[in-house]
This record gives sequence, C-alpha cells and structure tokens, in this order.
Amino acid sequence: MPLPADLHMHTPLCRHATGEPVDYARHAVALGLTEIGFSDHSPMPRDGFDDWRMLDRQLDEYVAKVRLAQKTFPQLTIRLALEVDFLPGHEDWIRQLATRHPWDYFIGSVHYVSDSWDIDNPAKLSEWKKRDAFEVWKIYFDRLALAAESKLFETIGHADLPKKFGIRPAQDCTPLYENFLDAVAHAGCAIELNTAGLRKDCKEIYPCPDLLRRAFQRQIPITFGSDAHAPVEVGMDFAAAVNLARATGYTEFCRFHRRQRELVKF
Ligand SMILES: [Zn+2]
Ligand SMILES: [Zn+2]
Repeated sequence: MPLPADLHMHTPLCRHATGEPVDYARHAVALGLTEIGFSDHSPMPRDGFDDWRMLDRQLDEYVAKVRLAQKTFPQLTIRLALEVDFLPGHEDWIRQLATRHPWDYFIGSVHYVSDSWDIDNPAKLSEWKKRDAFEVWKIYFDRLALAAESKLFETIGHADLPKKFGIRPAQDCTPLYENFLDAVAHAGCAIELNTAGLRKDCKEIYPCPDLLRRAFQRQIPITFGSDAHAPVEVGMDFAAAVNLARATGYTEFCRFHRRQRELVKF
C-alpha cells in the first residue's frame, strides 16, 4: 500500500526552513512517496507583519522553485499550494492570493490569536504565562471555525496547534472541538493529520485522537502532512499517522488538483 500524499512542506523562502524544493522531492522519491505538495507560509498583506514567511514579491520565485522540482522529478506528483494564515478580515487578501497562480490547494491555518501573538512561536512562549490556557484555546478554535466557514481552504492545518508546547487547559475542550468540526463539516473541507506535533513538546500528532474521532463521526475527510521544514522531515512518522487514521476508521485521504478534491483509498 503506497504512503499517502504529503501535502505540507516548506521552502527556505519562509526564512525558517532549509533545503530547496528539489531536495524535498529527492527525499520523497527515496522514501517511495508518489505525491507531495509544497505549502509554504503565504505572504501577508503587509510584508513586515512578521519574519517567518515569504515576502509578497517572492511569490513568483516560490512558484518557480516548485516548478523546477516538478521538472527534475517527473515521476513524482508535486502540487503547488500555500499554507495561508487565517486572520479575521484577511478574506479579501486570501481571495486575491488565490487568483495569482494556478494553486492546487490552500491549507488554512491559524497561528495568530491576535495581530501580535503567534501562539506557536517559541520566542513568545512567555505570553502563555500571562494568559489562561483555556481562554487562548477558545480564541484559537473560534478563529479556526471562522477559517473553515470562510470556504477559502481545501484543508485546515494542524487543528490543535495550541498544544504544541504541552500547555493544556484544565477544562474540557470538547465544546471547542465540536463547534470547529461542525463548521468544517458544514463548509465541506478537510482537516490535516500533521505529524510535526510528534517532533514538538506535546509529542502527539495534530489533531489528538479524540478530535479526529469526532471528525470521522462527521465524515470529515483528511489530508496528511509532515509540515517538513527540512528535506529529511518529508514523510516523517507517516506510518504512525496512517495507523492513527486507520484506527479511527478512515480508509481514504484527499489529494487536490487545481482546487478539485479527489479521495484516494489507503
Ligand atoms: Zn513554518
Ligand atoms: Zn502552520
């Protein structure tokens, strides 16, 4: 049985990843993957917003790097995508981004719970001490539900990202998960099984088994992503992700071409 498509990986243009797309593709071929997708951090409406994404003027360069990988490894299906930050009010910007290249899919991710706090940023870990964890999770999941409702994305990235540093609320998060998943089911998009969580303090795939089970109950489809920020991370821990998906009941994953979804058995 072939490994599922790895639809989440980055490039050096985001300023915190190493290796060119051709290097990621080479590693994918060596692993026996048949499909990958580049989904680097999208530009923001203002380039100085933060320092961990490509600049607006680098978008064409990004596409050229992905095209070069496609040309170099014709035996591998390589998709062109973006991991787009969802912030309320950015909808028109995201729609405009969508018109600039023939994207295969957009991953919708929430990293920001305000205009200045990206909750997964290790440099801002001290912010967590100033806030109640449940309050942060609530804002985060409310934004994630808005991201799904916007219908601007094919799949929603790393759904329970706030667990990254292992800081978890004492309260039951079920209502947050359910509200988010109802929005996903209503919008008809997918959610991502992201193995990067296994490489972080939380030591767990995003999302947790409970959230994934609730997604399966709603027949929400899934994508797989390593969130590779280096070539060696491509396809990392996919066996664990496949096991989790199978144990939950999933038998299909999603792939995308020109923003059209196809379900593939695994
Ligand atoms: Zn990143
Ligand atoms: Zn992300």
